[in-house]
Amino acid sequence: MNSILQTEKECFFCGNPVCYDHHIYGGSNRKVSEKHGFKVWLCLNHHTNGHYAVHNNKETSDYLKKLCQEKYEQEHSRESFVKLIGKNYLEV
Ligand SMILES: [Zn+2]
Ligand SMILES: [Zn+2]
Repeated sequence: MNSILQTEKECFFCGNPVCYDHHIYGGSNRKVSEKHGFKVWLCLNHHTNGHYAVHNNKETSDYLKKLCQEKYEQEHSRESFVKLIGKNYLEV
């Protein structure tokens, strides 16, 4: 997997080596996330099972969306991000 946020295959939050691909911008943006590396590895607890799991918790999900946009904007413009994802997650 290519990820703009990670190089090691381990849970982004806890470092657990048993982990799974998560697309940071899902739904219709899943393909774009795949192509541009808007992905992280997450363990089961942080992916789908726990209270703070990204699929159960909007704050966790928003946190990753913001962080990923910030990282992308280190090398690209905001316009190009919004063009890809259709939305700006950061403060203006
Ligand atoms: Zn974890
Ligand atoms: Zn996921």
